[in-house]
Amino acid sequence: MTHDDCIFCRILKGEAQADFLYRDDDLAAFWDTRPAAPVHILIVPNKHIASINEADDEDAELLGKLILKARDLAKEVGVDEKGYRLVFNVGKDGGQTVYHIHLHLIAGTKLPIFRH
Ligand code: IMP
Repeated sequence: MTHDDCIFCRILKGEAQADFLYRDDDLAAFWDTRPAAPVHILIVPNKHIASINEADDEDAELLGKLILKARDLAKEVGVDEKGYRLVFNVGKDGGQTVYHIHLHLIAGTKLPIFRH
């Protein structure tokens, strides 16, 4: 299931450009084009799910795979020992701008701690 007006579906279908680090039957990882830190990778399921709010219980394994792929990529790009941040933004107040689930892997600098 893909959505023609979704930029990540278009990237996954090869209709829009991206700098891929990884692809398989379930997910892909590519570099964020507007990085928030020296390392900023997006891990994206091939299945179009708008956000964590729309994920079903049956998506649990797929979501787990995103996290474990982020772990592997952190090691691959050499940030695993210093540390990194994994983020799902959800909805407007969560800062979500692309409504196709993606896990941010952010690293390469000392990241600020969010406080209210
Ligand atoms: P969100 O704000 O959590 O939805 O994150 C969306 C992310 O996608 C942002 O960090 C954007 O910079 C990134 N982004 C948007 N369009 C593209 C693209 O075409 N290629 C790679 N990253 C993108």
